[in-house]
Amino acid sequence: MRLIFHGPPGVGKGTQAERISIAENLNHVSSGDLLRTAVDAKTEIGLKAREYIENGLLVPDELIVNIVAEKINSAECKNGFILDGFPRNLSQAKVLDSTLEKVEKKIDRVFSFTASEEVIITRIAGRRICKSCGAQYHELFSPPLKENVCDKCSSKLYQRKDDYPETIKVRLKVYKEQTETLIDYYNQKGILIEVNCNGGKKEIQQNILTGLHSMSEKERDTE
Ligand code: ATP
Ligand code: MG
Repeated sequence: MRLIFHGPPGVGKGTQAERISIAENLNHVSSGDLLRTAVDAKTEIGLKAREYIENGLLVPDELIVNIVAEKINSAECKNGFILDGFPRNLSQAKVLDSTLEKVEKKIDRVFSFTASEEVIITRIAGRRICKSCGAQYHELFSPPLKENVCDKCSSKLYQRKDDYPETIKVRLKVYKEQTETLIDYYNQKGILIEVNCNGGKKEIQQNILTGLHSMSEKERDTE
């Protein structure tokens, strides 16, 4: 199965992609994580991408499409994948289509995540991440036992620069202007499933699994 998790920033795509990828034995491909790794490693792409990311803007297509294409063609993704954060605009969606066409594959389903702006802003503003092991916390909903310290590895937690309140607004605007249109693109292909993400993590996960299991056996075939 090849899936896309689509939706505004902070809606919970990453959290759910992690859970579903484990449950369904799919590889989780997060374009944001790939870019943040490149930024931390100070690669050529990372150095170019950093400012866009910190300001809440999309990085230019040429910095991301090749990394994602390489990843989905790799052995790790042989059994299928969940794309989280990619594609982010129409041209990326078309590159993705042609990348898959070349190997006679296609996207099976696109899960479109929605939540109110209020829910989104609360989720992003409270997010804290462990710099060392990547574990995620939320100030209100899942705080660490000791303030600002990771439960798992005792390292310090940090807040992503693009999670600062003023940058969240930019990201939501960019989403509306460039990314939201993909809902129509995939709806027209007849592969879109909407998921309401206002509820709790478990409830949302169940909604996704129900959507997945409504796909026919043939569609769920991994080859
Ligand atoms: P969240 O992680 O809160 O769900 P998000 O989906 O906006 O929010 P990421 O996917 O981690 O966050 O992306 C963070 C930043 O990385 C984006 O704001 C953008 O600068 C860059 N980025 C990630 N994916 C892409 C992409 N496909 N095209 C262009 N830029 C991207
Ligand atoms: Mg994310």
